Formats: sequence, structure tokens, C-alpha cells
Amino acid sequence: MEYECDSGHLTERYIDSGIDTVKCSVCDGDAHKTLGLGTIILDGTDPGFPGAYERWANVREQRHKLTMKKNMEHGRDRMK
Ligand SMILES: [Zn+2]
Repeated sequence: MEYECDSGHLTERYIDSGIDTVKCSVCDGDAHKTLGLGTIILDGTDPGFPGAYERWANVREQRHKLTMKKNMEHGRDRMK
């Protein structure tokens, strides 16, 4: 479960989902349960979210490939 405090910090807790409020890991304020629908943006480098990092790395890889492909096509067009 993911919890978000009033300051927007996210805290992950693997506890009973019936618990609606936990202590924020950043500011010690009250953090409330979020819907956790994957709308939270992570920079992908947080070691606390290895799964998110993996996804982020995959997306980056795919984007890189697409960019390379585009560059190649672009380069070919320029050679005409
Ligand atoms: Zn906080």
C-alpha cells in the first residue's frame, strides 16, 4: 500500500490494507492511503522501488531504440 502525506511525500507500507493512515517516512506527518493506481511518478532511481526502476529502465531502453531508429531513418532521408 502507498500512503501520501499532506506534503506529498510517499510512504510504502506492507501492512493491513485496512489501515488508512500511517506516519510519513519523510516528515513524520500523517500519511493517508492512496489509490495506488500507478499514477505516481517516480524518477526510477529510488532504491526503495526496484520494480519501478526496472519498468523505468525498460521504458528508457525502448525509447532509446525508437530514437535510434528515427535517427537512422532520418539519416537515410538526408542521404537522398
Ligand atoms: Zn511527509
